[in-house]
Amino acid sequence: MGNEAIHNPAPGAARGYEAIHRCLFLFRFTLILLLLALYHFSGASANLADGLLDRFGDAPLRIRFLYLTITLFGYYALLFPLSVYDGFVIEHRFGQSLQTFRNWFGDSLKEYAVDLCLFLLFFSVLYAFLNASPHGWWLAATGFYLVGVVLLAFVAPVLLLPWFFTLEPLDDQDLADAISSFFAEMKMPVSGVYRWGLGEKTRAANAAFVGLGASRRILLSDTLLDRYSREEILAVLAHEVGHHRHRDIPRLLGLSVALAALIFFLTARSLHAWTLAVGLSRSPGDIALFPILLLYLLLFSLPALPLLNAYSRSREYAADAYAVAAVGGAEPLVTALQRMTDQNLVDPLPPRWVETLLHSHPSIARRVAHARAVPLPPKSTS
Ligand SMILES: [Zn+2]
Repeated sequence: MGNEAIHNPAPGAARGYEAIHRCLFLFRFTLILLLLALYHFSGASANLADGLLDRFGDAPLRIRFLYLTITLFGYYALLFPLSVYDGFVIEHRFGQSLQTFRNWFGDSLKEYAVDLCLFLLFFSVLYAFLNASPHGWWLAATGFYLVGVVLLAFVAPVLLLPWFFTLEPLDDQDLADAISSFFAEMKMPVSGVYRWGLGEKTRAANAAFVGLGASRRILLSDTLLDRYSREEILAVLAHEVGHHRHRDIPRLLGLSVALAALIFFLTARSLHAWTLAVGLSRSPGDIALFPILLLYLLLFSLPALPLLNAYSRSREYAADAYAVAAVGGAEPLVTALQRMTDQNLVDPLPPRWVETLLHSHPSIARRVAHARAVPLPPKSTS
């Protein structure tokens, strides 16, 4: 969607870079499952929950809040070395990040703060539903998830982006005019075009629309503005307009909410069955069983990821086709995509299974082939 990273070192480097990130992603996921199992079966989770109960008595909200906060801090501490390796060491080894450690760590703290708020909010509400309705909570959880993803998709970029990046009005007036008239032609109102300061953090390029309706703003990363021709920038923007015209964000949100309903439903059933099967005196809504709840949620989410990715890739092809038709040819989009491959250290043709399971965007090589195959209407002479 709005995340078209742009990158271009040697093909071997891109392949190595992606392979390392892929391994780390799978490693981290497996490690989380193991840690959750360990947290539960060692009795540590029950000890924490019972200790808080002894200390604070019958104050379920406060106990859950403290339990979740302590648990997440434990997770941050245990996985911090992996985060440094993944987010800092690897990025520097491949020349992708320009941040100092101090700078990177500052950003990480901000991300942790955002994560902590979302995590506490999500699970506090989930546990309130779980205790109010041990069988029907999955439905309320789905409704809450729907509200949450809509807010995150439309509100968060407006609120959070300025916290992480510098945004300033585009200083190149010619380009700003060209973009404005391009959008007027597409009959899409925008309130401004901004230079998005990615360059101090990364070499990758990106473009995004944020906000709704007439307050919609276009963000173009400095890494895009400094390296791409005007035609290429317009082709990248036309791709984003394609997503907008095809209503791809609501479509993907709709699919993810349907999948979330299924995941919550299966988790509710499994958690209930599990407490009965092991003859626990604890109810499913007891915070001591949080590791089991989260294990079920993660396991049932696993098959949802390739499904969402497959749908997302089909929307990317459609947005590319829209862009090719809008700018009247495939070449500007093709050269922009190729520039991104180099700049963002993207493997242009990753193994098929990797793309199928893990990638929300088709490989660059396939996108280029698709873009060139889009039929164009005969040029009208005027
Ligand atoms: Zn896209």
